[in-house]
Amino acid sequence: MFPETKTQANAQGYRFEREGWCRGCEKRIWWYRTPKGKMMPVDPPANWPEPAKDWPFVAHFTTCEKANDFKKAPAGAAAAQQN
Ligand SMILES: [Zn+2]
Repeated sequence: MFPETKTQANAQGYRFEREGWCRGCEKRIWWYRTPKGKMMPVDPPANWPEPAKDWPFVAHFTTCEKANDFKKAPAGAAAAQQN
């Protein structure tokens, strides 16, 4: 089951890798490594850089206005659809 929050994501083995920018919409994204070892872009917390104990863990595929560009990205697309 796809995690709903950052805490759930960490519990399932998702790990933050690095910050980046979406090549489609150019918004900031955070790259996470999934439990299966694949990279997946996630929307950063809305109130960043204010410290947040927990925040909704949302695959960028689900919010990106250029999501069609990600059709070939295997990890997140499949995970997001399981939510
Ligand atoms: Zn995007």
